Amino acid sequence: MTKIICVTVFSFLLSISSFAQRNCGQQIYLEQLQITHPETKSQIIEQRKQAQLAAEQYKESLKMASTMKTTGTTVTIPVVFHIVLDNTQIASIGGTAGIEDRINTQLISLNKDYNGLNADKSKIPAAWASLYANVGIQFGLAVKKPDGTSTPGYDIRYATTPSTFTDVGSGCSSAKTYASGGLDPWDNTKYLNIWVVNMKYGSSTVLGVTAPPGSSFPSAEKGIALYYLAFGTRTSASEAFEYNIDQGRTLTHEMGHYFYLWHTWGDDGGLCPSDPGGDDDGIADTPPEADAKYHSPTYPLYDACSTTSPGVMFMNYMEYTDDTAMYMFTKDQSAVINGQIALLSNSYSLTQHPELAKVPTYIPTIGLSEQINIYPNPTTGVLSIKFNSDSNVLTDINIINLLGQRVLNISNPQSNIIDLSSLSKGIYMVQCQFNTGTITKKIVIQ
Ligand SMILES: [Zn+2]
Repeated sequence: MTKIICVTVFSFLLSISSFAQRNCGQQIYLEQLQITHPETKSQIIEQRKQAQLAAEQYKESLKMASTMKTTGTTVTIPVVFHIVLDNTQIASIGGTAGIEDRINTQLISLNKDYNGLNADKSKIPAAWASLYANVGIQFGLAVKKPDGTSTPGYDIRYATTPSTFTDVGSGCSSAKTYASGGLDPWDNTKYLNIWVVNMKYGSSTVLGVTAPPGSSFPSAEKGIALYYLAFGTRTSASEAFEYNIDQGRTLTHEMGHYFYLWHTWGDDGGLCPSDPGGDDDGIADTPPEADAKYHSPTYPLYDACSTTSPGVMFMNYMEYTDDTAMYMFTKDQSAVINGQIALLSNSYSLTQHPELAKVPTYIPTIGLSEQINIYPNPTTGVLSIKFNSDSNVLTDINIINLLGQRVLNISNPQSNIIDLSSLSKGIYMVQCQFNTGTITKKIVIQ
């Protein structure tokens, strides 16, 4: 159910449970932000409207190019992890080797969730199966620092013991500043900064808090703070993780906030969208919902705002359910995310530096490029796409101009021959999305 945010959405008091359950610091942050910077309240409302407009434009562009589809243009965003933990905390996650393992498993998990490759999507109820979205964004680990020198994709600051960051209300900003004991961000127009920390709000653990890249959020705070025991995915029973938060979904959720997604229930203190002062997530294809859902509910699940089948979409990544109980973004959520990486949008610049990052090898792109042939090139309009692999299924063809704009999309192509004669002469990128990865080749239409 759609409803643009209203002014009451940040005004309720938060209650944080001390039980082991998902607990994101987003509302704490937004509430504090409007106290310390009162002008941000209206700015955030305006930015959410802008995000909706960008999403609508994205959906229109899909309609113009083809029929509505579930995948977006696959782009790569460089990610850097700033580890700000004390010796005891670092030891508890396996030292430097453990940190590298968690970074790797975290990025693989994140990429699967954002590229339609999470295996548990098979659990989506039939009523919502058609809403499942392949967002089409890849996240690569930084291989170059802002100064051009090489990097393993993370830096570490051994913090003073005990290291606990309690300034969730400022987006955990002390961890984001060297002078206050943390690590400074890298150029946030090129890198998506993630800080791995121990976070508390009062006595409660906070799993994540996110400062999106819009102008109303302080520049130095932009990025994601992630609780160190909610980071990465479990590869053995003995590894230390927050209870039932061991599949990397906290970052999937926080990344959603980074791209202007809100919680599915609207953070309105339990009201329904139709109630006075009620709100929801502004997303048309997620059902109305009163309040957060926790742990691992059984489908169908109803609440005061969705009393009939199919009930509330508790398996959405923007819920508060356990890692194994959430496994989908919807198409309209994907449109909001993709709107954020469109030309002139908040995160467009992040997509323009794929050379700074390396995508983990879960996607076997190596070898694909040798197997694909696009000809003739230059062409007067008609192109043949040939590839030589039974295991690679071509799911999408995107034609992208030099401005980075997608000018044509063919979803689930039935033919390997495409006609581009309607396009202006010039240079384009042909992006072939396979089930196993993406290959992009330059062509000239003359
Ligand atoms: Zn959240």
